[in-house]
Amino acid sequence: MNILQHVIDPLECIGCSACEMACASKAITNIAGRYCIDFDLCNDCKKCVRDCPTGACDVYIETENVFTIDAQAMWTALPTL
Ligand code: SF4
Ligand code: SF4
Repeated sequence: MNILQHVIDPLECIGCSACEMACASKAITNIAGRYCIDFDLCNDCKKCVRDCPTGACDVYIETENVFTIDAQAMWTALPTL
C-alpha cells in the first residue's frame, strides 16, 4: 500500500531554513545545503508549510517506499514516480 510522504521540492527551496526553525519535532534536517524531512519524525503539523516563503515544503508524494533523508539529500528535483 502506498503512503503519502511529506517532502521538500529542491527546485523551489531557497535554503532560508524557516522550515527547520518552525519544526518543533526536529523532522527537518539540512544535509549539505538540502532540506530534508524525516518521515518518522514528521507529525504533519504543517508549521513548516506555513512559514515557507516559496511553497517548497508544501509537497506530498505518494510512494510505496519511504525516501530516507539521505536519499532526499541527493535530489536535484522531485522524483518521478
Ligand atoms: S509538518 Fe510539522 S512536523 Fe512535519 S516537517 Fe513540517 S513542521 Fe515538522
Ligand atoms: S522554508 Fe521553504 S524555502 Fe526555506 S529552507 Fe525550508 S523548504 Fe526551503
